[in-house]
This record gives sequence, C-alpha cells and structure tokens, in this order.
Amino acid sequence: MPDYDYDLFVIGAGSGGTRAARVAAAHGAKVAVAEEYRVGGTCVIRGCVPKKLLVYGAHFAEDLKDARRFGWQVPDTCAFDWTCLQENVLAEVDRINAAYTDTIGNAGAEIILQRATVSGANEVTLADGTKKTAKVILIAVGAHPAVPDCPGSEHGITSNEVFHLDAIPKRILIAGAGYIANEFAGIFHQFGAHVTLMNRSKEILRGYDLQIRDRLLQISMMKGLEFKFDATFQGIEKGDDGCLTVSMSGHDPVTVDMVLFATGRLPNTAGLGLDSAGVALDDKGAVVVDADNRSTCPSIYAIGDVTNRIQLTPIAIREGQAFADNLYGGKATTVDYDCVPSAVFSHPPIAGVGLTEAEARQKLGSVKVYSSDFRPMKNVLANRDERALYKMVCDGETDRVVGIHMIGPDVPEIIQAAAVAVKAGLTKAQFDDTVALHPTMAEELVLLK
Ligand code: NDP
Repeated sequence: MPDYDYDLFVIGAGSGGTRAARVAAAHGAKVAVAEEYRVGGTCVIRGCVPKKLLVYGAHFAEDLKDARRFGWQVPDTCAFDWTCLQENVLAEVDRINAAYTDTIGNAGAEIILQRATVSGANEVTLADGTKKTAKVILIAVGAHPAVPDCPGSEHGITSNEVFHLDAIPKRILIAGAGYIANEFAGIFHQFGAHVTLMNRSKEILRGYDLQIRDRLLQISMMKGLEFKFDATFQGIEKGDDGCLTVSMSGHDPVTVDMVLFATGRLPNTAGLGLDSAGVALDDKGAVVVDADNRSTCPSIYAIGDVTNRIQLTPIAIREGQAFADNLYGGKATTVDYDCVPSAVFSHPPIAGVGLTEAEARQKLGSVKVYSSDFRPMKNVLANRDERALYKMVCDGETDRVVGIHMIGPDVPEIIQAAAVAVKAGLTKAQFDDTVALHPTMAEELVLLK
C-alpha cells in the first residue's frame, strides 16, 4: 500500500466540500480541504445567504407602503441606506464563514487556504508549489457565472460582484431570465432602480410550471419591470458619462447605469489539472460522475455544482454526505434526485416540487389539475392587486399528487412541508382529509378544487 499524506483531499470548501470533509473526518479519515477564496463557497459568501438577506431588505419597500393600510403612520418618503444593509449582510456572511471554518477544524480536518490543482490520480499541487498525496481526491470546486461573449462584456458585473456595489444603480439591465435574474430584478426594483430584463428566448424560468411563471411575468410587468425577449447581446458601449448602452438583436438599444449577467453558471474545471488524471468532462466542462460520485479516474470523486446535476446547495450537501458515508462510514447511500423542491425568491416568490403540468401530461397521459387563484387577505387589506396561484398536479389514474406549484407570499416556506407529502406519494384525497388551518394561505392546499 502506498503511503499517502491524507486519506482524503477535498478541493473546495463550499457547502458540499465542507460536509464531505467534516463527515469523512468524523468517520476517522485523515482529511485536508483546500479553499482558494473563502470557506463557505458560493451559497454562504456570494449566493443564497446574502441574496436572501437582500430579499428581506428589499421587501420592506412594499411592507412600508402596505403598513399605512394597517394603521401605521409611515412618512411619504422612507430613506433607504444601502451601505447600512450591505455592511450588515456582509458582517453576517463573515460570521457564517467563521462558523464553517470552525466546523471543519472541530471535526479534525485540516484547512489549507490555497488554490489546489490535481497533478495526478493521487496528487494535488498547492499554489505555493507544495505537493500533497491522498488516497482519494474530492473535487467540490463549484461553478462560476457565465458571461456572454460580446464586445464590451467587461463592463457588466455578475452575481459575484453584486453584493459589493458602492450604490444602487438608477437603471439596471439584467441579462437572463432564470433564478438569479428574477431574484435580483425584484431586489433592484424594490430598491428603486428601473429594471430591464433581457433574455435570448421568450421564456422566463424555464423548468417551472408555465402558469406560475406567467403569473410572475404579469405581476413583474404590472410593477414596472421591462422585458426584452428574443434578444441577444450585440455589444455594450461605455459612454464618457459612465452610462452603458446595450445593443441587442430585435430591440432598440437600452442605456443603463449597470449591466448584470445572470446567464447560467459553468463548472470551475478550467486549469484544475483534471486531464492529468484522466478525469472526463462533459461538453459544459462538468466532471462526469457515476451514482457514487466517482469520476472516470477511480481515485477522484466530484460533488456539487462542478458536476452540473442539480445546482442547488442542499443537493451538494446531500452528495457530500453520501460520498463520505459511502467511503468512510460503511453506509451505502446514493442521493435520490426525485421530488427536489425549489424556489425562486422573486417578488412575489415562486416554488415548486415534482412534475409540472406539462411534464405530467407528457409522462402520465391522464392528469388532473386542481388550482386556487386567490388574493391573500393581507393583499386585500393592503389594496395590493397581486393574486396568488397554487396548482396541484395529480395522476389521473391513481389520484397521487405528482407536483405542486405555487406563487404568492411565503410559498417557499409552504412548499417545504408540501414536498414531504409529494415525496411520500400521498393522494389528493389524503390532502383533502387533512383539516384546513384557518386563516392561512397554506390551507388552500387542502381545499383545492
Ligand atoms: P438559470 O439557468 O436559472 O438561467 C439562465 C438564464 O440565462 C436563462 O434565462 C437562459 O435562457 C439564459 N441563458 C443561458 N445561457 C445563455 C447564453 N449563452 N446567452 C444568453 N442567455 C443565456 O441560471 P442563473 O444564472 O440564474 O442561476 C444558475 C443556477 O444557480 C440556477 O440554475 C440554479 O440552479 C442556481 N440558483 C438557485 C437559486 C435558488 O435556489 N433560489 C438562486 C440562484 C441560483 P433560456 O432559458 O431562454 O435558455
């Protein structure tokens, strides 16, 4: 048996890498984890966590307006201090970063704050030139924002920079119409910016139920967001006054103060040395793995966004846990990718689990759809003309609920519990057997017609 420095060398201390390192160490493995930027990865440092805090911050714009209808005396102009929110959010990021770092150390794994690249099937090379050997190498390096290839693209920013702005722009163009685009469209709009979204196709949030995303589009347009569909970048020109003029196919040029690219995320495999170990990548540069997260090199595994399966934090964490339990805990585990709930923290948010109506019709043939299209009572009193929509998609033969799709206040909080029922294979009749909890929005789920 060759003598290795470590049983396991993890590259990347994001959500997946941290979980894998911590659990493997707890199972008794000698573990090192290398991180080139900050422990916590995209989710903690420049993704889910700071984004959600900005969503909360942005929502006050509507809440303060609505508060008057609930008897509160709110001045006509409420000042918003971006620097205050930004500092508080970044301080929270620092706190979680420290907690993650402690978690890894407390589990007995070594943290190496350097970039590491693969230099062989059992060897990594650190940025300072040091070489380390390991019986197993785990690639958990995540992904980065894709930037369209067009003249002047260097004038745009991505979700990496968006948390560090000096000021909120007056006009912003957001490229893309997926998760990040719709979440930041809501955030910037609430902070007072004029938001234009442009997308290469006619669709927003591909993959979500059509009726639900249509509702988001209608509400967003009603609020004053502008959409440019079937538009591809031709170029971005920076004027002497710092303004950016964006030329795109099929539409007049748009002049804004900031351009945010939200056009998908690509695996961080460039320059990682994976070819030195014969690790196969797919056409997007993602590490190809089997159900046990093993790459085409038997000693190298990969988890999380770098594998481009489902780019969600809880999936990376599950993959990290399964990897460590399999290899070091003697527990054969594979991740079940069925019925993964997801949400977009737009204004209002949307959430879904299971098959969309279109997917169910294609897969099952016989399908029954139940829905509730209602104005939440809080919106009624606030004079806010925003309707919620809940949809339940059922197998027409068995009555089994195969999908739930929602838009409206707090739906990400509601879908988590509903997802348990969908995953457990409950039927519409079993939902209806449950007494409604009144008055809530969630009660609609057991009263659907
Ligand atoms: P998405 O995949 O959600 O959306 C990408 C958008 O960019 C789509 O509108 C797509 O258009 C468009 N697009 C894709 N490629 C190009 C291209 N080459 N040129 C022009 N437009 C393009 O990506 P995001 O960047 O918003 O987010 C990345 C991932 O991060 C998400 O898929 C999600 O997994 C994760 N995420 C999850 C969040 C959450 O759970 N709430 C929040 C943020 C991110 P079209 O659809 O027309 O092809």
